[in-house]
Amino acid sequence: MRAVTFQGPRSVEVLGRAEPELQCHDDALIRVVASGICGSDLHIYHGRVPTARGFTLGHEYVGEVLAVGDAVRSVSVGERVLGTFATACGTCAGCRLGLYHHCHEARVFGLGPSGGSLPGTQAELALVPHADLTLRRAPDGLPDELALLAGDAMGTGYHAIAAAGIEPGETCAVVGLGPVGLCAATAAKAAGTAAVMAIDMVESRLEVARALGADVIHAGEEDALARVMDLTHGRGAHVTVEAVGSAGALETACRITRRGGTVSLVGVHVAPCRVDTGLIFRKGLRIVSGLANVVAHLDRVLAMMTAGVLDPGPIVTHELALADAPDAYEAFDRRETLKILLRP
Ligand code: NAD
Ligand code: ZN
Ligand code: ZN
Repeated sequence: MRAVTFQGPRSVEVLGRAEPELQCHDDALIRVVASGICGSDLHIYHGRVPTARGFTLGHEYVGEVLAVGDAVRSVSVGERVLGTFATACGTCAGCRLGLYHHCHEARVFGLGPSGGSLPGTQAELALVPHADLTLRRAPDGLPDELALLAGDAMGTGYHAIAAAGIEPGETCAVVGLGPVGLCAATAAKAAGTAAVMAIDMVESRLEVARALGADVIHAGEEDALARVMDLTHGRGAHVTVEAVGSAGALETACRITRRGGTVSLVGVHVAPCRVDTGLIFRKGLRIVSGLANVVAHLDRVLAMMTAGVLDPGPIVTHELALADAPDAYEAFDRRETLKILLRP
């Protein structure tokens, strides 16, 4: 089969790979119908994650079930399914608490050794461990380009808001308007916030946020702190989502959040960065962070997406053939596109 493989910084190649086969009783084998490129793939693409050369990338996917192990109950051969970017065992101490993102045996598709060496989904076929937890039947009427957001970008955007414990009537700022930030913005709206302030420096992404009803702030042209203060009667946002994964974005998030407020840090920080802990201390900020519990959120997120309550707008801007993955990665990296779907 053909698969998108990591070849080194800013280099991916579509190569032939051995077809995966069922290995465990609770595995499923899927034919990938569509797989997205995520901001997390860019961390690998930039060479900032120790992903092995030749490893298959991708962790956002919709597929058709080709085979299931004899212990799989919730999906069947022939069904259209979507899944989460990470797997969980369902039985360890973390999973028993519902903290699937803290599963002791968690694996992440397409990441490499630090993700349990689980080959990615930007391929013709993918092996899906613990299929009853990882996969869901895709609701009829939910198109591929929305369905594949549920187990990653939307699950993470929803998590960013849920983990922050935002209350109706509060204000939310989102730093970084890639698919994750835009999904967080729609989740904040759905949570009954009084205002959502969306910050980025890419005009086309600010435009999508504006259509979602957010007050948009162009970080390259305006003083984000001054604008947020203006929009919040001088107090700052109750909750700020950092959906970038950089020192600059985290600093902005800490500055624009009000005293006693929460910074919800879902952007992946692959390297240490300096933050002003004095500022965090003086403002008494609460910081919630880490991988999103996408397994736990999946049914709720799908229900809300199907009902149109979580509607991220036109996040998938391009569909390309798997063979065009090198061009797709370049374009996404240059922020010329929002999410790109690769179709094998
Ligand atoms: P993306 O690269 O498409 O989006 C990042 C956006 O941030 C871009 O639009 C960029 O212009 C903007 N940006 C960069 N620096 C900024 C700054 N200082 N101020 C304001 N905006 C800035 O990525 P994405 O797919 O939306 O993912 C966002 C982050 O979420 C990534 O770090 C990704 O790894 C992470 N992620 C985390 C989880 C999780 O479980 N926690 C899951 C999925 C993705
Ligand atoms: Zn992702
Ligand atoms: Zn577990």
